[in-house]
Amino acid sequence: MRLAVKIGGWIKLQVIKADIAVVGGGPAGLSAAYSAAKSGARVILLEKDDAIAQNIRTSGVTWTREINRLGISSEYYNPISNYRFVSPSSEVLINGSGSEPQSCVLDVRKTWHHLASLAAAAGADIMLKTTVANITMDSGGRISGIKAKTMRGSVDIGCRLVIDASGFSSFVGRKAGIASEWKRYGVGAEYECYCEHVDADTWVLMVGKQYSEAGYAWIFPLSKNRVRIGIGVGRPESKQDPLDALNSMIEARLSPLDKMGKIQPIEFHYGFIPNQGLRKASVSDGLILVGDSAGQSNPLVLEGIRYAIEFGRLAGEIGAKSLSENSSKESLEDYQRIVKANLESKINSALKVQSRWLELSDEQWDKELEILRNMSLDEFLDFVKADFTASKMMKLALHHPKLAARQLFNMVLKS
Ligand SMILES: Cc1cc2nc3c(=O)[nH]c(=O)nc-3n(C[C@H](O)[C@H](O)[C@H](O)COP(=O)(O)OP(=O)(O)OC[C@H]3O[C@@H](n4cnc5c(N)ncnc54)[C@H](O)[C@@H]3O)c2cc1C
Repeated sequence: MRLAVKIGGWIKLQVIKADIAVVGGGPAGLSAAYSAAKSGARVILLEKDDAIAQNIRTSGVTWTREINRLGISSEYYNPISNYRFVSPSSEVLINGSGSEPQSCVLDVRKTWHHLASLAAAAGADIMLKTTVANITMDSGGRISGIKAKTMRGSVDIGCRLVIDASGFSSFVGRKAGIASEWKRYGVGAEYECYCEHVDADTWVLMVGKQYSEAGYAWIFPLSKNRVRIGIGVGRPESKQDPLDALNSMIEARLSPLDKMGKIQPIEFHYGFIPNQGLRKASVSDGLILVGDSAGQSNPLVLEGIRYAIEFGRLAGEIGAKSLSENSSKESLEDYQRIVKANLESKINSALKVQSRWLELSDEQWDKELEILRNMSLDEFLDFVKADFTASKMMKLALHHPKLAARQLFNMVLKS
């Protein structure tokens, strides 16, 4: 697989051949590497950080049923039963304590390491501390490989297919000219903290300008003394620095932090998430975009992990199959079609709710909470998961003849 060229005793350039090169060792890349290797392809994954999950860029909230289905069992998360919303002068608790917990907060490092082990066991090679710096093209203008910088010098990787799982930067997609810089996105800052008093069964979202100018703050528990506390801000609506806002919120002990006793940050997380919907094109000759790189996230609650894993696996599987057809664009189109069919309308509906939420004043937020107060647990979960099918929204409007629920229905279904 590798050819090292020695010049004057130093390894200057390595040339590596693989079937598939995966760029990025987040959940999308690790999942793509796993399924491609499992399908028999020679796979190499390149990650710029020193370790998988060295820099955490996520809060790790997801849904138990969906994540269990993807093979992530309860040893990887703290289950959540209750959902609390706090606005400047109101509060809602959606109580699910009588039923199976439907949400959870992942131990992100443990989960990503598990995904990496699956990929390695399936036969994928993982190169850490390897930054992809460019792509190579053949004479016909088709992507033919990548150039990367490693601890031991530069490396050229020749391959038939590149899977771009580089996250928000869409590094390869942009170099290849099928993706542009995201114009609408969220930026989030978060501390993982020791905390004296934590309700380990309940996650909290805090809305209103005192928390975030265009977004919200959160408290996501990992155990009875461990929480992630963070703030997300939407761009371009606001220029607010989420870290400044987070530090101010903790210093001022804004509610409900005032009831949590000692709060001691022990780890800092920071990241960006696209808020624009799916990329129009996520495949071209010899290239697939997956995960955040392809815009596969629900912008309403900054949720992309389960999609990154699910569609990462799909990209690896279809990518490996496509090798027999030289990974032509046509041989990859099933991937794009399946992702669109599963995600496009959900994300588009979530974007509509989000653009409404970004404009709400504090007084309007207090009223908006009444919509949530009227929902049953299942209706609420469908809503935050962006499961806005027409029949579910119709049921919601019929069950809640009050104006607020009707407004919601109109907002999501009318263009
Ligand atoms: C503040 C915040 C909170 C979030 N909270 C949640 C949440 O609670 N639940 C949820 O489901 N989702 C959440 N998300 C979204 C979720 O984190 C992403 O959707 C998910 O991580 C996408 O996975 P990915 O593999 O596509 O990208 P990433 O996780 O970003 O992984 C990309 C990887 O590529 C590597 N890389 C980038 N460029 C290069 C390069 N040139 N060379 C080599 N390697 C490279 C990076 O180092 C990184 O490891 C949140 C996002 C943010 C920003």
